[in-house]
Amino acid sequence: MKTVKILPNYINGKWDLSQATETLDIINPATLEVLAKVPLSPATELNQVAEIAQKSFNSWRQTPVTERIRYLFKLRELLEQNQQDLAETITLECGKTLAESLGELQRAIENVEVACGVPSLIQGYNSEDIARGIDEMMIRQPLGVVAIIAPFNFPGMIPFWFFPYAIACGNTCIIKPSEKVPLTMQKVFGLIDQLGLPPGVINLINGGKETVDAILENPQIKAISFVGSTAVAKYVYSRAAANGKRAQCQGGAKNPAIILPDADLEMTTKIIADSAFGCAGQRCLATSIAITIGQAKQSFTDAIAAAAETRIVGYGLNKNVQMGTVISAESKTRIEGLIQQGKQEGGKILIDGRNPKISGYEQGYFIRPTILQDINPQGEIARTEIFGPVLSLIHLNTMEEAIAFINQSEYGNMACLFTRSGAAARQFRYQVQAGNIGINIGVAAPMAFFPFSGWKNSFFGDLHGQGQQAVEFFTQTKVVVERWLSDWSRQF
Ligand code: NAD
Repeated sequence: MKTVKILPNYINGKWDLSQATETLDIINPATLEVLAKVPLSPATELNQVAEIAQKSFNSWRQTPVTERIRYLFKLRELLEQNQQDLAETITLECGKTLAESLGELQRAIENVEVACGVPSLIQGYNSEDIARGIDEMMIRQPLGVVAIIAPFNFPGMIPFWFFPYAIACGNTCIIKPSEKVPLTMQKVFGLIDQLGLPPGVINLINGGKETVDAILENPQIKAISFVGSTAVAKYVYSRAAANGKRAQCQGGAKNPAIILPDADLEMTTKIIADSAFGCAGQRCLATSIAITIGQAKQSFTDAIAAAAETRIVGYGLNKNVQMGTVISAESKTRIEGLIQQGKQEGGKILIDGRNPKISGYEQGYFIRPTILQDINPQGEIARTEIFGPVLSLIHLNTMEEAIAFINQSEYGNMACLFTRSGAAARQFRYQVQAGNIGINIGVAAPMAFFPFSGWKNSFFGDLHGQGQQAVEFFTQTKVVVERWLSDWSRQF
């Protein structure tokens, strides 16, 4: 019988078996093969890691910024050389297609590239002679130990929205991946191990809720970057604030797209199908509701139904597959229940993707693209994040009605508009309440040099991940006012 490995943590520059008494199986969601076991590291272990990271901080912060970013140059090269292997690992544990896994790693690499610009991004400013002989300056200093808590859906990308900036700014960090998909970070830390970084600058701890709670309570951890569901994001944000920590917490989403009658139908259909069904709908920027206006209704409904039916679903490592699995049996059951609920609330199941037969992978957690038509705009299904390959269709008479519908959502992660009208696009951009906007774009994912925005219950905090805002999050400002009299300096 094949022995299943218990994944180690990476602490103080070396691999370390966890003290955990509890482990979870890591399951390939397409084949149900047990890939490894992940330890649920206890609070005592997290506290030891924080202690080590704190010690390491005292010397890392004195390392010149130019030296700090040289490790990132090296990491960038290693990521590129190992992109295929990392992508296969993402697909193995997460179920998405290989092309999607390669795509998310590209975003990771881009964040490392932008973080290499920290020597410029971290600069403060100064003013000479704010009064006679007195100068004033603002400098940015690192916070100390910071922690990054990640969700399951982008195991190879999301930690990179934060940690390259954190360490380039002089912080030390602890990464806790999702316990559902911890293998990718094991591989990434295999590369980090080759960088020659001083021990303790970047640490990996595996675990679940208990580990997160220990992060929240540890006084040495000064800041937390969290990405996950809204309920947990709210919890992490409030506990972090109560304990005096800085926090940026990205939550869930329910993203709408409006299709105006003048939209380019072919392009719009392709883009919305990719947005709704790509990564099996498990993207925080997935389109979940398509709102047709006026004459767009019938033509778009027919086109998107055809796109849903022809999408090739299968094992993500197989060629030509366009959509993989959802993450777990629990998730599959929840999504299928929500499809049924959409019907009970008055919607019609136009394309039913439940219980597909995927030859060779009959036990896998597959759901084919599903379309719910004419759902109740006031119903649960119009409000709840499904996080699966399910697109709901609503028809309204005007764009103003559609914007009002969107703006009553508790979420504000992304909203998209499909049109040829510049005036409509401007009105939409101006009025819609969401942090990421797509105009004729279906997954409006900000590049690494833009903040990953998000409003309302999709984000708790002030400063977002990526680029300049990440640098601001991972540093605190110090303002210095100096008086130097010219006759003093003459004495030396
Ligand atoms: P999740 O909230 O279940 O887990 C996220 C992290 O929190 C994991 O590391 C997990 O170990 C930890 N966690 C889970 N329950 C906890 C609890 N009760 N107390 C403390 N910690 C806990 O999220 P998920 O299912 O892994 O990811 C999917 C969610 O993430 C979706 O809602 C999706 O929209 C969201 N997401 C948001 C963004 C964004 O940018 N806004 C990006 C990706 C994913």
